Amino acid sequence: MILHLDGNISEYYAQTLCLVFFPGSTFGEHEQPGEGVPEVSVNVYTDKSGAANAYASIKLNDKVSEATAQVTAEEETITTKENVAAGRALFAAGKTLLGHIPPWGILTGVRPSKIAMSFLEQGKGILRSKRILRDEYFLNPQKASLVVSVASTERKLLRRMPKNSCSVYISIPFCPTRCAYCSFVSYTTPRLLSMIDDYVNALCEDLDELFGAIRKVGMTISTVYIGGGTPTTLDPSQLEKLLSKICENTDVASLEEFTLEAGRPDTITEEKLAVAAKYGVTRVSVNPQTLNDDILREVGRRHTVEDFYRAYDCAKKSGIRDINVDLIAGLPGDDFKNFSETVDRIVELDPTNITVHTFCVKRAADLLRSGNDVYSLTGGEAGKCVSYSQIKMKFSGYKPYYMYRQKNTVANQENVGYAKEGHEGLYNIYMMEEKQPIFAAGAGAVTKLLRQDDPGGDRRIVRLFTPKYPYEYLREHEDRKAGKEGVKPGIAEQIVDFYTEKT
Ligand code: SF4
Repeated sequence: MILHLDGNISEYYAQTLCLVFFPGSTFGEHEQPGEGVPEVSVNVYTDKSGAANAYASIKLNDKVSEATAQVTAEEETITTKENVAAGRALFAAGKTLLGHIPPWGILTGVRPSKIAMSFLEQGKGILRSKRILRDEYFLNPQKASLVVSVASTERKLLRRMPKNSCSVYISIPFCPTRCAYCSFVSYTTPRLLSMIDDYVNALCEDLDELFGAIRKVGMTISTVYIGGGTPTTLDPSQLEKLLSKICENTDVASLEEFTLEAGRPDTITEEKLAVAAKYGVTRVSVNPQTLNDDILREVGRRHTVEDFYRAYDCAKKSGIRDINVDLIAGLPGDDFKNFSETVDRIVELDPTNITVHTFCVKRAADLLRSGNDVYSLTGGEAGKCVSYSQIKMKFSGYKPYYMYRQKNTVANQENVGYAKEGHEGLYNIYMMEEKQPIFAAGAGAVTKLLRQDDPGGDRRIVRLFTPKYPYEYLREHEDRKAGKEGVKPGIAEQIVDFYTEKT
């Protein structure tokens, strides 16, 4: 796609909004005008009254669509007036040219509930917040309702979040095999899987330091989340080593939540879940994504529906309080009939949590090669599938409690976590709404430092990154232990520095 921008507009925002109309497009100097290549121009200027005025045109083959928009000086906006004016003009031009109305209007961000939350915090109330999202940001009424409902539930739960608290995230970036659609840095080959012992040992040493830092800065730990990859790629003894290390360092009985995101059913065994239960895990995820073996094969997920039922049964028998089940709408080869049946069968199992993701085309190469049209504008029946899941959840006693969006999701839909009341995944809320520091350990883990008592609400967040790949993580860990020159301080040290005002 060719994109010309003139004026004070965020390039990233304009590109993301263009992707809503032209999924899968790429931007860059190599793009040449031609058949099937959209050419988009956006101009914005601010006049003497302070109003932002935008003009957008989209040319595709022999068709051109143009639109203008204005944001007055008095209008309150969630981002710059120029971006909002540009978004409105681009949205109007795209809608006319393609006859398609994107469900999320001109919102492109990952965390729409943060916007709804800010409206509620400003006292705008539920109805007015929905109206603003519909009338000024062009969300369709269902999405406006969903996002305000999520924000309102989150707000209630966040009020109960302990003061001066934090959460701990532990990364296990390994999976038994790689799913065809996966964009996650996860290690699957036998040679790399043989590194797990060393990885767990290094992680345990880092956890001693991390929990030590938390004690030093005097914070309460409210949740611990072990995520992946697939954490149950660990064998029972590796899992026991990790969980016992956590128990050595903190009173798990006093945690609000302790999650082991087991994930792939083919890695879940009775023995592993017995270990999890023994060390106080309160929440596990067992993720079939779909209850259709043909689709599982199609997307290269090496387990079967039967594996899922067996794993779910193990989770039930383990006595772990909360079970989450992840599903994906819009998988290649899926349709409304199959997806709605999957949702119905999962609801029959009555897990406390169900998370409905929308298929996200991040690593489409393998799927494109197999001839799937993963970049269609309307996403086939994905939108209908997502709507069905929302209605079914509502009438089955599940409430949406957290959500996020990603670029290039099929049909520009969203990911929503649903829970029975009192069983919401608190870590998900704390992490998504960025109201609590997250201290993270392991390869590719991101620590988020913030001060909960920061005045003004717009908290400064400092992100600390660990090396992405396990072998880099191990090397840095060894170098630090050996006191090698030039190795940056560990996460624990940086946490203490931040909270004791050294940074
Ligand atoms: S289980 Fe998840 S993280 Fe692992 S390969 Fe499949 S999609 Fe990627």
